[in-house]
Amino acid sequence: MGALGDLQAVLDRIGAEMAEAPDRGRVADYIPELARVSDRHFAMAVCTADGACLTTGEADTAFSIQSVSKVFTLAIALGRLGDQLWTRVGREPSGLAFNSVVQLESENGIPRNPFINAGALVVTDAILQGRRPRDVLGEVLRFLREAAGDDDIHINKAVAASEQATGHRNLALAHFMAAHDNLKNPPDLTCGTYFHQCAVEMTTRQLAMAGRFLMGAPGAARLVSPARVRRINALMMTCGHYDGSGEFAYRVGLPGKSGVGGGILAIAPGRASIAVWSPGLNAQGNSQLGTLAIERLTRATGWSVFG
Ligand code: GLN
Repeated sequence: MGALGDLQAVLDRIGAEMAEAPDRGRVADYIPELARVSDRHFAMAVCTADGACLTTGEADTAFSIQSVSKVFTLAIALGRLGDQLWTRVGREPSGLAFNSVVQLESENGIPRNPFINAGALVVTDAILQGRRPRDVLGEVLRFLREAAGDDDIHINKAVAASEQATGHRNLALAHFMAAHDNLKNPPDLTCGTYFHQCAVEMTTRQLAMAGRFLMGAPGAARLVSPARVRRINALMMTCGHYDGSGEFAYRVGLPGKSGVGGGILAIAPGRASIAVWSPGLNAQGNSQLGTLAIERLTRATGWSVFG
């Protein structure tokens, strides 16, 4: 059996193990539309540097990418603003929940990093400046479609509306930052754009395809330069799983970004872009089986960046 056959066998074994897993975590219920999703789903997709894309499970079922979208908006914001973005948001892990409010007060409205909600709101606000939400969302979709090589990527309006109706914490974060002059658009406009960006739906296969630019795939420098890709990966490693980032680095050993829809995008630099989806979350709001599945994948392949 060749290397790809071996990898497919590893994926199939992990898929079978995840189907049997007794503790699947808890599906997010603070966004009512997400609470309707079953915790039984599982999918994994691996796109390798030589152009193959292998999958197991329901890899062609679309799910809500939620905070995984923050990787792509960060790439877009860095492309538009460059290092100026870092005057408004930091690059340190927060050690707190993704939607925490407390740190913002002691740190004068400057969020710790672009992946916690406050930081992602600043990133979206920066892309939005001087433009209309629909233009920004059009750019996000164009970026995702080009990165994935697939035009069938859309926003689920019911999910966006569901979050809009219950998004008091995000609005609180936005208003607090506006009070510190770190939000340039009206809070409801920035939050509305952010809710729609989080409501993008993709399949696990599409997400792995869209992450290829982060593994330094041939030709990907056209989307984002290698120097920037390195920085985005560093932030994913240190901040991509919120207060579970240290644990993810310890167990998996790859840069990764999670979302409360149960998706994770993880990157094995130079080797693979990996996406996984299982809606049940652990206490930090990261996919319980998604984390376990990537942990088993890196153990089987030796892909941890720590050797
Ligand atoms: N849209 C979600 C929120 O802002 C995203 C959070 C997440 O995926 N961690 O609460």
